[in-house]
Amino acid sequence: MVNLVSKVLIFSLFNRSGSLAGEHSGKDGIKGGFHHIWKMEVPVTVKTFIWKAIHEGLPTRKNLARRGVVDSALCPICKQVEETTCHVVWSCMAASDVWADQFSVVQKWDSRDMNFCSLWELLTTGLCLKQLEQVACVMRRIWLRQNQFIFEGKFADPKTVYSSVGTLKLNWDAGIEVEAGRMGASILVRDSTGEVIAVMAKVQESVFQPVLAELLALWRAVTFCLELGLTAVVFEGDAQSSIKEINSSDENCKWYGQILEDVKSILMDKSSWRVQYVSRKSNQAAHHLGKFALKYVEDEIVWMEEVPECIYSFIAADRQCNA
Ligand SMILES: [Zn+2]
Repeated sequence: MVNLVSKVLIFSLFNRSGSLAGEHSGKDGIKGGFHHIWKMEVPVTVKTFIWKAIHEGLPTRKNLARRGVVDSALCPICKQVEETTCHVVWSCMAASDVWADQFSVVQKWDSRDMNFCSLWELLTTGLCLKQLEQVACVMRRIWLRQNQFIFEGKFADPKTVYSSVGTLKLNWDAGIEVEAGRMGASILVRDSTGEVIAVMAKVQESVFQPVLAELLALWRAVTFCLELGLTAVVFEGDAQSSIKEINSSDENCKWYGQILEDVKSILMDKSSWRVQYVSRKSNQAAHHLGKFALKYVEDEIVWMEEVPECIYSFIAADRQCNA
């Protein structure tokens, strides 16, 4: 386990290597592989991660030991061999557990240690671009999981590493001006790395009860996901009692039961969609967007792969936690 000083150094080294992303891509290490990276339809954070891995720019224990930052280059998880890039994302038993997943496109592949460039070359020749994109995203998740283990002592289940790739997170919220009978709804869709996919702000008249506002906002969120054709979505909101009712198998006979049952019937058809509670603190971007909607939106506004200025700082803060 690293001490606090080492942690600070690791972060500063990481940030320094981060500047490499802006360099010109003239010194391609492997034939063809480099071009694949920038063609992949994955978040830029994943492309940059692979690029750094190829250029030995990641702060692995081996790289840190070479620079004198840490004494031991041993992998902190298996404690058996030096922690190289390939070891972390591919050969370590912790990585092998992830690649053994039933949805893995490299499930039966040889997990022996090698240079990361050679591994990437094998992947680019053996996989199609779509499969390569999946592998690149999972590799970054494995890297983040390793960091989480070193810095926070937490180690995510291998199944969650694979399933989190491709699952989108949707935060929603609703604000209400009770006297005016006006609600502001907000919907924010991000990928597993925090990259914004879509944002919606909406107002609706003749809504007087907060519980109805929350449910109408969730209704718009699920229909919005249907319109976008999204396959795997986790809906996160801070309306605890409504979420409990949504996730209950009992029929709801309250006055707002119909809208609740309508949402439930859509969710029933979508096995990879689920609704869960998050604290108000974790839902701040959606909360502020809802306030913005009440003030400035007339009907409905959608931003695709764009972040409205009013929530930019919240998105940036969330992304920093995710990086
Ligand atoms: Zn290991």
